[in-house]
Amino acid sequence: MHTSPQNATIIGAGLVGSLLGLYLAKKGNKVAIYERRPDMRKASIAAGRSINLALSDRGWRALEGIGIGEDIRKVAIPMYKRVMHDTKGNLTSQPYGKEGQAIYSVSRGGLNMALMDLAETNPDISLHFNQQVTNLDLKTNTLEFHNPETSQDTRLQSERIFGADGAFSAVRLALQKTERFQYSQSYLEYGYKELTIAPGENGTWQLEKNALHIWPRGQYMMIALPNLDGSFTCTLFFPYEGQHSFSALKTEADVMKFFQEVFPDAVPLMPTLLEDYFGNPTGTLVTVKCFPWSFEDKVLLIGDAAHAVVPFYGQGMNAGFEDCSVLNELMEAHENDWETIFKTFEKVRKPNADAIADLAVENFIEMRDKVADPRFLLQKKIEAKINARYPEQWIPLYTMVTFTPDMPYAKALKNGRKQEKIMKKLMQLIETEADFEKPEVQQMLERKMTEKFSLNHETNV
Ligand SMILES: Cc1cc2nc3c(=O)[nH]c(=O)nc-3n(C[C@H](O)[C@H](O)[C@H](O)COP(=O)(O)OP(=O)(O)OC[C@H]3O[C@@H](n4cnc5c(N)ncnc54)[C@H](O)[C@@H]3O)c2cc1C
Repeated sequence: MHTSPQNATIIGAGLVGSLLGLYLAKKGNKVAIYERRPDMRKASIAAGRSINLALSDRGWRALEGIGIGEDIRKVAIPMYKRVMHDTKGNLTSQPYGKEGQAIYSVSRGGLNMALMDLAETNPDISLHFNQQVTNLDLKTNTLEFHNPETSQDTRLQSERIFGADGAFSAVRLALQKTERFQYSQSYLEYGYKELTIAPGENGTWQLEKNALHIWPRGQYMMIALPNLDGSFTCTLFFPYEGQHSFSALKTEADVMKFFQEVFPDAVPLMPTLLEDYFGNPTGTLVTVKCFPWSFEDKVLLIGDAAHAVVPFYGQGMNAGFEDCSVLNELMEAHENDWETIFKTFEKVRKPNADAIADLAVENFIEMRDKVADPRFLLQKKIEAKINARYPEQWIPLYTMVTFTPDMPYAKALKNGRKQEKIMKKLMQLIETEADFEKPEVQQMLERKMTEKFSLNHETNV
C-alpha cells in the first residue's frame, strides 16, 4: 500500500469529478483523480455515436469559474424553444425563456474530454485510468482499487476523498455502512433508449436545429437534441411493461409498425432505427437521495453520487456543476477547515438537491403529456405576459430553475408552487390569449401580487 502524496483524491473522472479536480487545484490542493474506465480520449468512441446533454446557466457559471466557458460555447448549440411534433407531423413550439435565452446542446464526451485535457495540463492534477474502487475503509481512509485491464489490485491511503463516482457510487457504499445513514433509491417504471436522426446532405439538420424536439404521447415520449455534425440524438422514454412498452416491441416488424404509427414524421429521418433500437442498451431512470454526504473531514460525496436525478429537467449535470461552484465558495470562506466546509456544503445543498429531484420527476409529466395540451400552452403564454408585467415578482418556474442560477432550486420550487396556485385561479377566467387584458383578470392578478406575494431571492450559500 502507498500513501498518496496528494491531499485530495477524487474517485470518478466523469463530468463532475473532472471539473471538481480543476476547482480543488485552483485552491492549492494536490489532486489525484481515479477513474474506472479507460481514458475516453484514447478509446475509440463506440460506433461514433454522439450523446448530448442540455447545459444551462448553473452549468455555465461553473465552467466559467475555471475559464472554459468560452471554449465550450463554441461547440454548443443553443436551443431557444421546444418544438412539439404531433402524430400527424404538425408542429407547435414554446420558447424556453425570453428572447435570446437558450439551453445548450453539448456533446457529453466532448465536454468530459475538454475537462480532462484541462486537468491533464495542470501540474497539480494527476489522472489515473482503469482504476475501479472496490472498497473504502473509513477508519483509515484506505481505498482499494482493481485494474480491470491488468487484474492488478492496489491500495491507497488518502487524507481526503471526494466521491464523484456517479449514481452507483462505491464511495457512497462505504458511507451507507455508517450509523444512521439515510438512503433511498427509486426507479421509474420507464427506461430510455438512444436513437439517431441522421444528418441531412452536407451535414445539414433535417429538423429545426436550434430547438429541442419533443414527440409527446401521453404515457411516453421521444425527444431529440441537435449535434454539430447535423445529426440529432433522440431518446425514447418508454414504459418497461404494458401495451406500449419495451416488452411489447419484440420484433423488427413490431418496432417499425409502432414508430410509423406514433412518430411518423421522424421515421424517414432515422435510417438506423432498427439497428439503434436493438443494438443500444435500455437505460434505467433512478433518483438517489441520501444523507449525510460527508464523513468527518475525510470524505465528501458530490454530483450524482450524492443526488442522482431523472433527466427531465435537464439539470443533473448542471446541479453537479453547481455543487462545484458552491464548494469553491465554501473553500474560499473557510480556508482549510474541511469539516466546516463539508458540513456546510451538505446542509446547503441537500434541500436543493431534493427540490430538483422532485421537479425532475414532475417535469416528465409536463414533457410527455401536458405540452401537447393547448390549454397548457396558453397558460405558458399568459405566464410570460405576467412575467413581462411584473418582472421582479413573477418568474416562470422553468426560468427560475434554468436561467436564474443565483436562485437555489428549493426556492424556485417554493415560488413555483405559489405561482401555480395563482395560475389555476386565473386560468378559470381565461379562454384566449386576449383574455389576459380582461378587467377581472387584471384585478385578480393585481390583488394576488399585492397579497404579500414576492419571490424569495436567497442565494446558494
Ligand atoms: C438519459 C440521460 C440524459 C441526461 N441529460 C441531462 C441533461 O440534458 N442535462 C443535465 O444537466 N444532466 C443530464 N443528465 C444527468 C447527467 O448525465 C448526470 O447528472 C451527470 O453525468 C453526473 O455527473 P457525475 O460526474 O456526477 O457522474 P457520472 O457522469 O456518472 O460520472 C461518474 C464517473 O465515475 C466513474 N466511476 C463509477 N464508479 C467508479 C468506481 N467504483 N471507481 C472509479 N470510478 C468510478 C464512472 O466511470 C464515471 O466516469 C442525463 C442523464 C441521463 C441518464
